[in-house]
Amino acid sequence: MGMLDGKVALITGGARGQGRAHATTCAREGADVVLVDIADQLETVPYRMATQDDLAETVRQVEALDRRALAVTADVRSQEQLDGAVAQGLAEFGQIDILLANAGIWTQGAFWELSDQSWDEMIGVNLTGVWRSAKAVAPHMIERQTGSIVITSSVNGLEPGANYAHYVAAKFGVVGLMKNIALELAPHGIRCNSVHPGAIRTPMTDHQGAWDMFAGHEGGTEADLVEGGYGFHALKGTTFMDPQVIADTALYLNSDLAAKVTGVTIPVDAGHMVLPG
Ligand code: NAD
Repeated sequence: MGMLDGKVALITGGARGQGRAHATTCAREGADVVLVDIADQLETVPYRMATQDDLAETVRQVEALDRRALAVTADVRSQEQLDGAVAQGLAEFGQIDILLANAGIWTQGAFWELSDQSWDEMIGVNLTGVWRSAKAVAPHMIERQTGSIVITSSVNGLEPGANYAHYVAAKFGVVGLMKNIALELAPHGIRCNSVHPGAIRTPMTDHQGAWDMFAGHEGGTEADLVEGGYGFHALKGTTFMDPQVIADTALYLNSDLAAKVTGVTIPVDAGHMVLPG
């Protein structure tokens, strides 16, 4: 018996990283998945974004667990493309029980130096993209009077972070959005919560540009990132965490164990935020 037997989950940003961990976790627990990813590069993002090969690899890993996966190339900034992904998912599987609004980007810059394009891409993907994803699944969930939505925010949705005000604004923004979605969908038996990862080892964070930012110079290392605060966790022995820690928390939120949990923010940060200063 899986915790999600017979369910269908739509996962944005499903090609790799935490999205892939969500996909394999849902599959292991008995759910089929719709994987939505742009699988392309955005101009302001300095690290390599996911590719069609990444998306295909997630499909392969889900199928290896004997579940079905439908991959849809779509940009969460486009309502038309998201509505199309939901329509394809419904045509293939007949229902969507779970939305994991996980797609996101992470770019840097002092707030007074951010370009309009950098601000707009960040807000477009990390905030508006979450609204659009929820908007795409809501009518179907309301019709069935059931569903669970988990939004991936960040510890930076609960505390600031130097050099990415646009990221922080978007990640705080989705907390308000999550609470309003929870409020508006509660009468329909649909829940909505957010998870707030600390430092997770994925291609978003595990690259030279991120290390250099925390080092304050070129030639930085992972140690600079950890010592610079981002990867600093209270729990003994924790630096970068595996994406599975987020997938496990989302699994709880999407399962019957959390049947009465809605409108809450759950940090998964190994105690990062209990640290003073
Ligand atoms: P990642 O870069 O490996 O994965 C993000 C995925 O989102 C990629 O596959 C990417 O192609 C996809 N994506 C980006 N823009 C898209 C768009 N416009 N439309 C559709 N897909 C798009 O990084 P990750 O760490 O797995 O990130 C997942 C989520 O976790 C993000 O929302 C991120 O902000 C958040 N987060 C990450 C960390 C961390 O330390 N890695 C910490 C806190 C929060």
